[in-house]
Amino acid sequence: MAETMNKWIAEWYEQNDADIKKLMRDVWEHPELGLETPYAAKVCAQFVKEHGFDRVELRCAEDYNNPEARPNAVIAEYGSGRPVIGIIGELDALPGLGQNDTPYRDPKDGPGHGCGHCIMAGGSAAAACALKYAMEKDQLKGTLRFIEAPAEEIGVGKGWLAKDGLFDDMDVALMWHPGSCELDYDPRDSVAIYDVEFRFYGKTAHAAGQPWNGRSALDAVQLMNMGCEFMREHVKPGSYIHYCITAGGLAPNVVPDYAAVRYFFRSKSGMEGAKEIYDRACKVADGAAMMTETTVEKHINMTMPDLIYNIPLCRFLYQSALKLPDLEYTPEEQQFARDLYKSVMEKDAPEDFDKVMPMHISEFHDHKDGVKSSATDASYMSYICPTMHSSGMGNLLGGPGHHWGMTCCAGTALGQKAGIFGYMALVQGAYDIFTHPEVTEEFWEYQRSLNLPKLDYSVLK
Ligand SMILES: [Zn+2]
Repeated sequence: MAETMNKWIAEWYEQNDADIKKLMRDVWEHPELGLETPYAAKVCAQFVKEHGFDRVELRCAEDYNNPEARPNAVIAEYGSGRPVIGIIGELDALPGLGQNDTPYRDPKDGPGHGCGHCIMAGGSAAAACALKYAMEKDQLKGTLRFIEAPAEEIGVGKGWLAKDGLFDDMDVALMWHPGSCELDYDPRDSVAIYDVEFRFYGKTAHAAGQPWNGRSALDAVQLMNMGCEFMREHVKPGSYIHYCITAGGLAPNVVPDYAAVRYFFRSKSGMEGAKEIYDRACKVADGAAMMTETTVEKHINMTMPDLIYNIPLCRFLYQSALKLPDLEYTPEEQQFARDLYKSVMEKDAPEDFDKVMPMHISEFHDHKDGVKSSATDASYMSYICPTMHSSGMGNLLGGPGHHWGMTCCAGTALGQKAGIFGYMALVQGAYDIFTHPEVTEEFWEYQRSLNLPKLDYSVLK
């Protein structure tokens, strides 16, 4: 017979199901951006306090030692000694993705949880409480540290918390993220990222009257983009270049004296690979400036390392996840998902519900082909301690991320049940680590074998 979940964890989740969903919904209804997540932080701190945590602090991630700074993160702790297990959640939403909980496009002004971080915020708070409950019942030794982080979408939240030293003594850090695939524990290649704005300065003039006196910053932006398009052919496999024009002039009859373009350079060859593309793009930018007699400033917004998968930890947590009962949706929820599928995917939902919503755990492989090309600031933790960033479930199968459809899932049972499931699997994993603490030696042996460099925090701002 297959092993089953720890009964205390199961009991806690059964008793608190409605409260968890209420918390997820509360965060969904109050979407906040970037480092400005005081509301989400407050309600998540309240939740864990109400469920028995004594050591709960609201802090400011980027000004950690200043108690006066407005809070945007939660740190709570229970227990003492080793091992130290971190349960991590995220709080921030995305601009422009406000959506009502209808299975068709019905926009709401402002930001929305189009990446589903509200179900991570509630899911991780619940996970911390469930784990604490099981630790008490079975008198487990060790420390549980619960962290809610802001600003994942701008790539700095966990960078600041890493700089603050919150992961330094952790044996493992555990988090889950929703996704449009089955729940996945497989290690794979991931990307590091350079986020850079190139700001061009020219000379304004009447575009018709005296164009010879103007030097167009917009021309420089266009030439830079053209140069980068040609460069695409000559970058290594696993390199990604994305851009948008952030300033392009104000009127056609005025030669723009200012224009800017923002680039994300991603590489599966770590920070070195991303920097290599950045350095070459700088030459393209300088060339564009020279051609147009403008000047250029390079402004690095953020850099983020690649996510390091700790293979023994992934394998261990996969085994723990198999102890959970299946994720299920009611007939009403299934109908809602089918309607949403039709609106988002612009075709009828498949007959077989297994092809509409992810509800299963993918079979584990020591390495999965293909690069995880989206980046996450969980990578900061993964350079410091063995880290699990499991992903999958909570969005339509094959559905788009950073999309109103995800906002809709995150505000309803479709996402909420996945958030509970994804984190519950990690709680069972944490329980199994607390009861077999010697396994952390294997995780650390692997971590050390990677010889990871020290992180550079100088770009955080
Ligand atoms: Zn996200």
